[in-house]
Amino acid sequence: MEQESIYKSPRKFRNKKYLQNFEAAALKGEHLNGDYEAAAKFDSELNIAVIGLGASGGLASVLLVKNPYNKIFGFDEKPPFSTLLPTGGGRCNLTYAEDDVKEFVKNYPRGNKFLLSVFSRFSQSQTRKLFEDLGIKTYVQKDKRVFPSSDSSKKTVEILRKHLGCQNFKYIKENVIKIEKLNGKFILHTKKSKYEFDVVIIASGGKNDGFELAKQLGHNIIKPVPSLCALDIEEKNFYKLSGLTFKNVEAKVNKYSAEGDILFAHKFITGPCIFKISSLCAYDDLPFEITLKLTKESREEIEEYLKNNPVKTIKKAFSRFAPEAFISEILKINSIEGTKQTAQIKKAEKEILINSLTALKLHVKGRIKDSEIVTAGGVDLNEINSKTMESKLHNNLYFIGEILNIDGFTGGFNLQNCWSGAYLCAKNIN
Ligand SMILES: Cc1cc2nc3c(=O)[nH]c(=O)nc-3n(C[C@H](O)[C@H](O)[C@H](O)COP(=O)(O)OP(=O)(O)OC[C@H]3O[C@@H](n4cnc5c(N)ncnc54)[C@H](O)[C@@H]3O)c2cc1C
Repeated sequence: MEQESIYKSPRKFRNKKYLQNFEAAALKGEHLNGDYEAAAKFDSELNIAVIGLGASGGLASVLLVKNPYNKIFGFDEKPPFSTLLPTGGGRCNLTYAEDDVKEFVKNYPRGNKFLLSVFSRFSQSQTRKLFEDLGIKTYVQKDKRVFPSSDSSKKTVEILRKHLGCQNFKYIKENVIKIEKLNGKFILHTKKSKYEFDVVIIASGGKNDGFELAKQLGHNIIKPVPSLCALDIEEKNFYKLSGLTFKNVEAKVNKYSAEGDILFAHKFITGPCIFKISSLCAYDDLPFEITLKLTKESREEIEEYLKNNPVKTIKKAFSRFAPEAFISEILKINSIEGTKQTAQIKKAEKEILINSLTALKLHVKGRIKDSEIVTAGGVDLNEINSKTMESKLHNNLYFIGEILNIDGFTGGFNLQNCWSGAYLCAKNIN
């Protein structure tokens, strides 16, 4: 489907009168960039509040300001798009280049059905076209992850911020602490003041008090828990292995499995494989056991190698399959003499060593606080219209981004949820 640019499609605008005015003004070169003075000449403007100017609220604002009929007030203690700065390791992994929407949504442990509807209305390829329209070219990496051509979150943020530099956008550097609905209008309270709006978009992310605001308006919140996070392990001996990495590990927790690299850090394990498994078992009770297959070789292949290398020392032989520091630690924990030849290894010792490589069991006692990249849980999707992102409980109230009960794996999936939600919501308001 061809990208419909929100500001190039006048039929998206709300009424005939506006359209006529817009076209007349456009011919004279006026307010194409959202000149509020010009827009103010029109009646029935829409007062819109955007709560949270991160990825989703920021983009929704960018799209809404293109319609000078809107007056947008963005609330956030942080400057617009600040939350994009650390993404993708400073490179901003915008999305993932997979055209098959059914395949795409497999990357969301929560929200995939809802997103099937959202992404079939506004997909990753349409998002990339939109970014290009906004002046941000993108490229696809070998692993299908999509980045801005600048490879810089900072430059991406600078460009996006420029789109908000127009007169129908007002940035209010305050957080919203309370929201209520009175006579069809939304009243927003900050520590300093009180404001009235026709339309409210709640885009406050997954780690803040936005859930409280949703509750104040009667929405149900699915318990927020950390996802894509490091896992705290009980085995103190492994704390010494801090800094050790393993490639292409297979991890299993209960009925879930994941693959990828892992890193032993002080007191915890982390890395893409751990993030993925932590996401899959985000709601499993603690403590739980995690089983790691640290080698690509199977148990049989390791046995075969030992058989063919009888005079090698145990330590040397096993160090073929894992870093020596790891093997030394396993030998030490289990009081196995590493200087013996493999031919002399006892059956039980061999079993311990092979298990440590092919099925290492660690006990997870916690999810590392504040290490999470996203939050699972949030506003109940049954209460949101997936075509428009509007609340089913209140007209003119919208929820977008991570505040929803949606979370994906790493790879650009979480930002794609923000971009598509922002587009659908802005399109519906416009
Ligand atoms: C280190 C890191 C790297 C990441 N990298 C990637 C990546 O490369 N690709 C990817 O897809 N995802 C990535 N993510 C996840 C992604 O950044 C988030 O999913 C996304 O930013 C969520 O967007 P959002 O608009 O819902 O919320 P946010 O971007 O978190 O923005 C919410 C905004 O709301 C504001 N706010 C909160 N409460 C209030 C209030 N009461 N009143 C007013 N304002 C409020 C906050 O200050 C914040 O600015 C990363 C996350 C982290 C932490």
